[in-house]
Amino acid sequence: MESKPLVSVIMPCYNMASYISDSIKSVVVQTYPNWELLIVDDASTDETVSIIKDYSQSDSRIRFAIKTQNSGIADTRNQCIRMAHGQFLAFLDADDIWHHEKLEKQLRFMMEKNVGFTYSTYDWIDEDGNTLNKFINTIGNLDYETYLQNTIIGCSTVMVNKAITGDVVVPKFRTSEDTATWLDILRKGILAYAIDEPLVSYRIRRKSASSNKIKAATDLWKVYRRHEKLPLFKAIYYFSCYAFNAIKKRL
Ligand SMILES: *Cc1c(COP(=O)(O)O)cnc(C)c1O
Repeated sequence: MESKPLVSVIMPCYNMASYISDSIKSVVVQTYPNWELLIVDDASTDETVSIIKDYSQSDSRIRFAIKTQNSGIADTRNQCIRMAHGQFLAFLDADDIWHHEKLEKQLRFMMEKNVGFTYSTYDWIDEDGNTLNKFINTIGNLDYETYLQNTIIGCSTVMVNKAITGDVVVPKFRTSEDTATWLDILRKGILAYAIDEPLVSYRIRRKSASSNKIKAATDLWKVYRRHEKLPLFKAIYYFSCYAFNAIKKRL
């Protein structure tokens, strides 16, 4: 077994000038050194690109691509994945922040247990990076059926070992594309193993609040019906579980 395998960090971004510096910095300061950060910009109209270029000049582990036309999160994340050379993929949204030892702890867990897919507990921060003293805890190891009932996996907490999961391709949905991606892996009979320790801070943004939640719910319904091809009554059942758990999470 390689002692320090390469971890490819997948970071799509769009108009993230206010937040992406903190996200990139949280990768640069990881205690685990053998990573590459792959950033693809989805035709941002703010200062995001110049920030990415600055960081990439100061650290050769950071590579980027700039799209000239906006094509959405799924395409953008797939482009990042195609640039990856690592056996391990770790996902980080450009407004979230990893804790210092995130990669080291998660990689050690995955290599000791020889598992292909892990997620972790995360905490909430506000737009200014202040803690909201709220933790979204893992709920144990997830199989396909359990995850359909509770889409608890935080995208920025996920790491996969492609030697076990196979290639990762993000299905084309506007918002629940990450859920569809994890379902594709779980459907193969691979479990998502829980690391019950906060490794990531997830940024809660006021502006993207309620309208996004409706979009996300609509897209999740499409994932259940069109991607998973669940029969209507099953889809209604799982969607009710999701809605219940989503509300519980906010309390
Ligand atoms: C990992 C990955 C790649 C890049 O790795 P290769 O070694 O070039 O295959 C490309 N496409 C997908 C879908 C991947 O998961």
